[in-house]
Amino acid sequence: MKKISIAIHGGAGTLVKGMMTSELEAKYRNDLKAALDKGYAILNAGGTAIEAVEVAVQVLEDSPLFNAGKGSVFTATESHEMDASIMDGKTLNAGAVSLISGVKNPVSLARDVMEKSEHVFLAGEGAMQFAKKLDYTLENDDYFYDEFRHKQWLEIKDTDSFQLDHSTKKDSKFGTVGAVACDQEGNIAAATSTGGMTNKKWGRVGDSPMVGSGNYANNKTCAISCTGSGEFFIRGVVAYDVACLMEHKDMSLKAASEEVIHKRILEIGGDGGLIAVDSEGNIAMPFNTEGMYRASKTSEGNEEISIYK
Ligand code: ASP
Repeated sequence: MKKISIAIHGGAGTLVKGMMTSELEAKYRNDLKAALDKGYAILNAGGTAIEAVEVAVQVLEDSPLFNAGKGSVFTATESHEMDASIMDGKTLNAGAVSLISGVKNPVSLARDVMEKSEHVFLAGEGAMQFAKKLDYTLENDDYFYDEFRHKQWLEIKDTDSFQLDHSTKKDSKFGTVGAVACDQEGNIAAATSTGGMTNKKWGRVGDSPMVGSGNYANNKTCAISCTGSGEFFIRGVVAYDVACLMEHKDMSLKAASEEVIHKRILEIGGDGGLIAVDSEGNIAMPFNTEGMYRASKTSEGNEEISIYK
């Protein structure tokens, strides 16, 4: 049996230490661990990397602590518009959705786009019609209401500002979630899900659902899920950039992902981080912010759950 491994993130940047109580920190760790364990159990039982990343992301989407699924931030019109994507490194199949609402687990709709449609990326009303065709039950607004997120929105509503989930100085983080995994066959996969930015308008879409920017997987190189300032991650084509450095410059997973996060994305003004895995089960989790909610586990017995540097 090959080495299996999984890494997850709940967003780069973190609550500044003063705002993070030990009780809240324990909650974050608990939900990260629940997602990690559920994804790892699938790999351990011989399941595929795709299954593992979907399930791990579902757990994070179901937690109100992260800006995805249940904890999604508010848009300028006091609603929620979520984006998600998933990619299979063995087949290069991918599925993505953006600007969807009411769907409890956007990552599963992205997987359905990949497996049950001829397409890769469905957006807005059309994506919702696709969900209805597949009999998705839609949650009402109450399910997505979170007092903390609502307060964040109230502070900037009716202004032209939009903000990455808690990107003010006192409380700076992006809460997108993601998972990458390597299964017993050495196949890898990546999934990413987000509510985007507080007070976003005009159908703003970030990097998270974009193949090659916020999410990418190819058995030849790596599986990547990003978090950070989406506009920069789109322009830096960050996830694919890591894969390119590995493929064309023969860099290791660690060297390539660090080069992108600590140099190339910084040079164009972006901040954030990523999680990465290759088909040997190696893991890298670089970030250039104060912290990144993250966790990883391998069959060699390494387990990490961390928030700060
Ligand atoms: N990258 C996400 C976006 O721009 C935000 C995040 O990572 O929290 O939509």
